[in-house]
Amino acid sequence: MRIKVSDFCKIVSANYLGGETELLFSHVSIDSRSLQNNDQTLFFALSGANHDAHHFIPDLIQKGVRNFVLTQKPAENVNGISYFVVSNALEAFQKYAAFYRAQFDFPVLGITGSRGKTVVKEWLNFLINPDYNVIKSPKSYNSQVGVPLSVLGMDHKHNFGIFEAGISTVKEMEILEKIIQPTIGILTSIGADHNEGFLNLTEKISEKVRLFDHVGKIILEEDPAVLCYIKDRNKVFSWSFSNPNADVFFSKTAKGKLHIIGKKASFEVEIPFEDSIALSNIATCITTLLCLKYSSEIIAARISKLYRVEMRLQVKNGIHHCTLIDDSYSSDFQSLKIALDFLEKHKTHSVKTIILSDIFQSGLPEVELYRQVSTLLEANKVNRIIGIGASISKHLKGLKNFYGFWSTDAFLRKFSAEDFQNETILVKGARGFQFQKICSLLEEKTHETVLEIDLNAIRHNLNFYRSKLKSTTKIMVMVKAFGYGNGSLEIAKLLAHDKIDYLGVAFADEGIALRKAGIQLPIIVMNPEASAFSAMIAYELEPEIYSIKELKTFLNLAQEKNAYQYPIHIKLDTGMRRLGFDAKDLPELIGILQPTNIVEVKTIFSHLSSSDMAEYRDFTLKQIGDFVSQSNLLLEALEINPIRHILNTSGIYNFPEHQMDMVRLGIGLYGVGNDVVETAQLENVSTLKTIILQIKTISAGESVGYARKFRSSGVTKIAVIPIGYADGIPRAWGNEKGYVYIKECKATIIGSICMDMMMVDVTEIDCYEGDEVIIFGKEIPVTVLAAQLGTIPYEIMTGVSQRVKRIFYQE
Ligand SMILES: *Cc1c(COP(=O)(O)O)cnc(C)c1O
Repeated sequence: MRIKVSDFCKIVSANYLGGETELLFSHVSIDSRSLQNNDQTLFFALSGANHDAHHFIPDLIQKGVRNFVLTQKPAENVNGISYFVVSNALEAFQKYAAFYRAQFDFPVLGITGSRGKTVVKEWLNFLINPDYNVIKSPKSYNSQVGVPLSVLGMDHKHNFGIFEAGISTVKEMEILEKIIQPTIGILTSIGADHNEGFLNLTEKISEKVRLFDHVGKIILEEDPAVLCYIKDRNKVFSWSFSNPNADVFFSKTAKGKLHIIGKKASFEVEIPFEDSIALSNIATCITTLLCLKYSSEIIAARISKLYRVEMRLQVKNGIHHCTLIDDSYSSDFQSLKIALDFLEKHKTHSVKTIILSDIFQSGLPEVELYRQVSTLLEANKVNRIIGIGASISKHLKGLKNFYGFWSTDAFLRKFSAEDFQNETILVKGARGFQFQKICSLLEEKTHETVLEIDLNAIRHNLNFYRSKLKSTTKIMVMVKAFGYGNGSLEIAKLLAHDKIDYLGVAFADEGIALRKAGIQLPIIVMNPEASAFSAMIAYELEPEIYSIKELKTFLNLAQEKNAYQYPIHIKLDTGMRRLGFDAKDLPELIGILQPTNIVEVKTIFSHLSSSDMAEYRDFTLKQIGDFVSQSNLLLEALEINPIRHILNTSGIYNFPEHQMDMVRLGIGLYGVGNDVVETAQLENVSTLKTIILQIKTISAGESVGYARKFRSSGVTKIAVIPIGYADGIPRAWGNEKGYVYIKECKATIIGSICMDMMMVDVTEIDCYEGDEVIIFGKEIPVTVLAAQLGTIPYEIMTGVSQRVKRIFYQE
């Protein structure tokens, strides 16, 4: 983009500080961690309650970024930097996106609704992709920030846009409408979720349909309760399963078949899914295709090939200690860049391999395309490139680390598992290449139960607690017990990008594992055992010191190793009655520390026993008061100025005024607050899920499971699911106490829970073998489960056994 500075100032309402007359940039960024072409980047410094990008500006200037849109210019002057000062950087970002969007005049679909937006978007993209160069919002980028980001991906090679818009309160849709400027609108469904931001359903619907203020056509279900909000009935192109007056009328004629009566044609299609949610999404897609004048033959052919939307970059455990990044459903140049970036952030080994198919839809001539691909692969220091497909084999064969195959089958014939060891492998290919076959060979074999961890949610939660803190307060993140069951390594890697100050683990081996994986953040070991001191020093792990005896042992060892000012952390017991020095120990402690410079007191801390309990507020305040006075004693006697910290998650929430120099964040990061209000502001991090292995119908009077604990009173449909107490499901949940979620319905656990399996009642649920089963996650928060079953979320989360495969993802 080349634009006059004065014009740009008008678009975003900015005051210009700088010496240029023209603004020239090829990238717009709001994220300091993922820059490309730094000196060609225009950076918008967004600041929200949770995060302030202004902190990163000096860093960005160092990295070569020269143009900034921000609300406050940094104090220090640097030559050659342009600042566009605005009153609200998000608004400026949105205005620029709207301006940018207006440069293109191809058709744009704008999708909104409570449910199904992302699926409909991905499916429509798949359905029309053979005929258009589609630009669509990545994943579910549908927010006030996500929408402008998506729109800024538009390019002259595109000729069709599909964007989703999600809102959580009034006035937001008006803004998104201006940015997306849709020519056709799609409403997926109006559900009860996200009602909090609206007075009532009326307000929610009237707000959502504002996306359609300027469209030529609106596609939605024929539903009087919604249609009454549409101003111009002539624009409506509706579908229905119950009302034959709709523009497109659907009926299910047989298993796997859908009959369609449109204004011009009636025909039948085969459908790959038939649960009610999929059906309405399929109806939305078919109606859209009819609106775009697709023939019934093409519609039928393409609908039968719809797939589950699992497009995200999935991180999986691979064979021979490899890490696998599965991106086997897409291959275009833009997504290759994203995937390589992702690979760099998530690699767990120094060796990077990519398995890449031919690339489509670049709009570039082949020679130029593959020249850019090889530059990109080289810049990303990919160690081994396995290319599959005729074009990639032809154009990249000159690279020294390139291995070409004409087809996926040719690769599979030559495949040897021994060729893949201790490396991170990105598998990225267009759908037609069926790279899922490659992934299934490279993936470590386990049963179907997985714990999915949403890394974006972790980042959101971190920022939520950060917003409660002063910008100078340091953060220690507790990743003990395998990151509360979620995987400490991946979380530590994520956090290393997010400017936290310390990691906390319980035992030395947890810290050693982090070091071996390349984590460089300072790490405190909370329960160090004397036998591990030597290894701790070797791996630069910092001990919590809680007793005189422990201190003496550590000092002896540190001296042997010629340590000088080795960082230690003094723990005071102010009422928890667990580890820590009592007040009476302090004179002796001072006596030992005063003369030595073998160790240095980096921090002093204590732990609150009841920071989550309002009824013990006085007790907590007394703990805090005692901590302040006892630590003051140490500060004065030793003439030191260490970091002081006492708050855990609920402490941050309930006692932010006592944040001191650092806080220790644990459970909140993983999505669990100590009450509903707090939890509602967090995002769910982990989802424990499995699948239905077998369904059977039993007759009245039959029993189910060991010891015949369940007796059916009538014909009962049961599902067997492969998760049991060895996976961490407490046996106490069996015999109709607990339940799981299948197709958004509760299925009660019947009979006793077995070691590797359990049975649930699905009599009322339209479900099939292979369908997903959720044990806990967004639908059943772990807090609710814990409350019902008389335990705490910590126990359920850390109890998920290590044999359950962890899958990490982020958008
Ligand atoms: C586990 C732990 C924390 C974190 O507690 P949460 O309640 O999970 O936030 C903080 N400090 C110490 C010493 C801990 O052991």
